Amino acid sequence: MSDDQYTFDNPAEKFSDIETKAKPQEAPGLDTKLDDKADLGEHSYRGSGRLTGRKALITGGDSGIGAAVAIAYAREGADVAISYLPEEEEDAHRIIGLIEAEGRTAHAIPGDISSHDFAVSVIDVAVAALGGLDILVNNAAKQVFVPKLADLSDEQFDLTFKTNVYAMFWLTKAALPHLSPGSTIINTTSQQAYSPSAELVDYASTKYAINGFTKALAQQLAPEGIRVNAVAPGPIWTPLQASGGQPPEALPEFGQDSPLGRVGQPAELAPAFVFLASGESSYVVGETLNVNGGSPTP
Ligand code: NAD
Ligand code: MG
Repeated sequence: MSDDQYTFDNPAEKFSDIETKAKPQEAPGLDTKLDDKADLGEHSYRGSGRLTGRKALITGGDSGIGAAVAIAYAREGADVAISYLPEEEEDAHRIIGLIEAEGRTAHAIPGDISSHDFAVSVIDVAVAALGGLDILVNNAAKQVFVPKLADLSDEQFDLTFKTNVYAMFWLTKAALPHLSPGSTIINTTSQQAYSPSAELVDYASTKYAINGFTKALAQQLAPEGIRVNAVAPGPIWTPLQASGGQPPEALPEFGQDSPLGRVGQPAELAPAFVFLASGESSYVVGETLNVNGGSPTP
C-alpha cells in the first residue's frame, strides 16, 4: 500500500496485493463485505487545502468511488453530505466517521434517489445541513448485467435510467438555485460510454446519456460561472461489480485487459474529482476525464 497519492510506484504494479475474488453479494453491495477490501485512500490520501470551506454533496458517497471522493474532499477542507440507500448504513457510517475525523461537517442522507420527490429533498437536506452547496457530485448508479435483451425487463431498464439519468437531472435542477459562480457539478460516467459491453445495454446507454447531459449543460452554465464536467472510470474494484454489475466468474480477471493489466482502486479516482471541483481547473468545462488504466477513448 502506498504512503500517499504522490508516490511514484510503478502504476502497473500498484495495489497488486488486492485481489478481486469476492463472493457475490445482493445489490447494493457493501464495501465492508468485499473479501479483499477496496482501497478508498483512507490510509493514503493527503490533502493540501484545495477545497477549503467548500460544501459538497456526493451521491453514492457511502462506498467505492463516491466514498474515496468523500474522504479526499474532507481532507481538502470541504464539508460533505453523502446520499446512499438505507441498506448501506454500515458503509455510510464508516465514511461519515472518516469525514468527521478531519474536523469537517458530515451529513448522511439515506434514501432512494430514483424517486423524484426524494431526490429533490436530498438537495434541501444537504443545503440545510451544510449551510449551502458549492459542489454536486452525481455519482450513484445501478448496474446489473443481463446477457440477452429478451431477458432485460422493463422494470430494470426503467430503474437503471431513473437512478443513473433522471436522478442526475432532478438533483442538478434542484441544486441550481443554490449554486453560485465558482460552483462545480461533476457527473460519474464510464468507459462504458465509449466501449459498451454486450451484457450492459441499459447501463451503457445511461453512461452515454450522462456524457451528453454533461457537455450540453456545461455550455449552458459556463456563462454563469458554474462548471460542469465528468469523470469516466474504467474497471474499478467496488461493491457495484461484486453485486451483479459483472458475472461473478468474471470478477477474478476484472480489469486485467486494461493496458496497465490490472483493476483500478477507488483511491485512484479521487484526485480527478478533486481537480474538477477545485479552482485550479477553472478553464476546464464540459470535459470527461478518463481514469481507466489506459484504454483508448475517442
Ligand atoms: P458503489 O456500489 O460503491 O457505488 C454506487 C452507489 O450508488 C451505491 O453505493 C449506492 O449508494 C448508490 N445508489 C445506487 N442506487 C441508488 C438509489 N436508487 N438511491 C440512492 N443511491 C443509490 O460502486 P462504484 O463503482 O463506486 O460506483 C460509483 C460510480 O462509478 C457509478 O456511477 C458507476 O456507474 C461508476 N463507474 C464504476 C465503474 C467500476 O468499475 N466500478 C466503472 C465505471 C463507472
Ligand atoms: Mg454503496
